[in-house]
Amino acid sequence: MNRTLSSIASGIFFLTLLLASVTTAQTPEKLLFDGKSWWDHVKVVADDNMEGRETGSLGLRKAEAYAVEQLKHAGLEPAGTNGFYQNVKFVQRTIDEKNSFAFLTSEGEPTPVSLGADAYFTTRIEGSDQELNAPLVFAGNGLQVPENNVDELADLDLKGKIVVYLAGSPSTVPGSLAAHYGGIGQRWKRYADRGAIGIIAIPNPASMDIPWSRMSLNRAHPSMDLADAEFNEVGGLKMAMVFNPESAERLFVGSGHTFEEIAALGKQRSLLPHFDLKVTLKAREIIQKVDLESANIVGKLTGTDPQLKKEFVVLSAHIDHIGIGEPVNGDKIYNGAMDDGSGTAAVLDFAASLRRHPEKLRRSILFVLVTAEEKGLLGSKYFAAHPTVDAKAIVADINIDMFLPIVPLKVLRVQGFNDSTLGDRAAEIAQRFGAKAVPDPEPLRNLFVRSDQYNFIRRGIPSVIMDVFYEPNSPEAKIFKDWLTQRYHAPSDDVNQPVDLHAAALYEEIVRRLLLDTANATDRPQWKPDSFFKRYAEAQTK
Ligand SMILES: [Zn+2]
Repeated sequence: MNRTLSSIASGIFFLTLLLASVTTAQTPEKLLFDGKSWWDHVKVVADDNMEGRETGSLGLRKAEAYAVEQLKHAGLEPAGTNGFYQNVKFVQRTIDEKNSFAFLTSEGEPTPVSLGADAYFTTRIEGSDQELNAPLVFAGNGLQVPENNVDELADLDLKGKIVVYLAGSPSTVPGSLAAHYGGIGQRWKRYADRGAIGIIAIPNPASMDIPWSRMSLNRAHPSMDLADAEFNEVGGLKMAMVFNPESAERLFVGSGHTFEEIAALGKQRSLLPHFDLKVTLKAREIIQKVDLESANIVGKLTGTDPQLKKEFVVLSAHIDHIGIGEPVNGDKIYNGAMDDGSGTAAVLDFAASLRRHPEKLRRSILFVLVTAEEKGLLGSKYFAAHPTVDAKAIVADINIDMFLPIVPLKVLRVQGFNDSTLGDRAAEIAQRFGAKAVPDPEPLRNLFVRSDQYNFIRRGIPSVIMDVFYEPNSPEAKIFKDWLTQRYHAPSDDVNQPVDLHAAALYEEIVRRLLLDTANATDRPQWKPDSFFKRYAEAQTK
C-alpha cells in the first residue's frame, strides 16, 4: 500500500461507520485453499534474500523471476511485451540534503529549518539548483472542488509564492472527491496555473498513519517516477516540502493565526481560513537523478467462449516493496510480507489452483504483478496507459494489496462496494462464506485511490479491492491499529509475524469466486449511476 500519496492527500483519520450491510451467516461452503500454499509463497518473496524488493533492485528481480517461474508452472501464457515481462523505465530521485537547505525568515531574522526534525524535502519533483526566496501563503486544505463549490484558492494570490496546506479535506467534500483533487498532480496543476512555485504540506496530526519520526527517517529513500515525459504531472515545481506538525507553529508566526487553531479545525474537518503568512522561505532543493528499469509481469489464461475470451478480467497485486532502509531494532530489511507479499502470493496461488482445479472460463484472466506501487502506483499507471491487451477489452480489475489475514475473517471490507456491480457480487459471495461485507468505514483515508486499482478506475474500468477487516471498537480493531503502528512499512512486516491461515484461505476463496463469476457472467461489470468514479468511464467513451 502506498504511504507517500497519503501524506500529501489523505484526509482526517477518524472512525465513521457509514453503513454496514447486515448479512446472516450460512453453512460455509468448502474451501479450495488451506492458507499454507499461500504462506509458502509469502515466505519466498518476503525472505531476507529478496532484500525488500525495492523497484529496480536485484532483490525485486529475484522475486520477479520466482513469480514468472510459478506462473509458467501454472500453465499461463506470457502476456507482457518481453515474455511475461513488461519493461518500464524510471527515474530515481534522491535528495542531496548536504547541499540543500531551508530557512524561515520572520522580521528579517532567518532561522534554519532542521531537515529531518522540522521538515523534509519531497523528491517527487525535479528540484532546482537555484535558491528560491519566496513568501508563503496558507491555503487551508488547498483544494478546489467544483462539485462541492469549494474553492480555497479563490481569494488568494499565489503568484511567485509557496502554497502551505494542511493535508485532508473539509467534511463537506466526499472522500472520493477529496482524493481526486488532493493528489499532487491535480494540486500542482491548479497552483501552477496561478503562478505558485512551491508546496509545503503539513500532515494532519489527527490522521497520520505513521509517526513523524518514521516518516522523517524514510526521507533518505529515493523516490521514483515514470521516465516518459507523458507522465510528468509536476513540471515547474521547484520545491516541495513536508513540515512536521510539531514544528508547524513556526510557519504561522505573526500571521494572527496559530497552527494549534488550524489543527483543531482540521481535526473537526471544518473549513479552514486562508491567508498570507508573514514568514518567507529561503530554500534550495537539490535532487540527484538516476535512470533505472524495472518491469511488470503479465500472464494470461485464455477463456473458452469464442467471443468473450477476447475480454479480460485482471487480477492484480504489487510485487515491489520499499527495500532496505534505516534499521529498526537492528533490522534493516523491509520485507513487505503483507505489503504486498500477501497479494503477490495470492496471485501465484490462484494461478496454481486453476491449474489443479481447472474451471471453464468464458472470459480470459490476466494475472498482473506490477512494480513500483510504493513509488506512487507507477507500475500500474504505466500498465493502464500501455496495456498489453486491448484496453477496451479489460472488463474489471480485482486488486489485492495487504489484505491482512491477522484475525479471523468475519468482516470483509470491500472498497468500491457502492461503485459498481462488482461490489454487490463480492458482498453476495462473502455472505455465502459467513463473512459480512462492508464498504470502507474510513473513506477519509482515501484507501480506494491508494493502491493500484486506482489506475484502472481512472481508465474507466470497474474495480474492487477487498481485505480482512473488523468491527469498530472490537479487540480485532486494536490488533489492526497496532499492526499499522508497528509493522506497516517497517522491517517487522516480515515472515515472523503471526497470521491466520484460515482467514487467508477464506479470503482467497472469496476472491477466486469473484474472479470466476466475473469471467463467466454474460454482462461486464457496470459502474453504478451515482458512483463518483463513473466519470472516468464516461471520459473514455468520449
Ligand atoms: Zn506499502
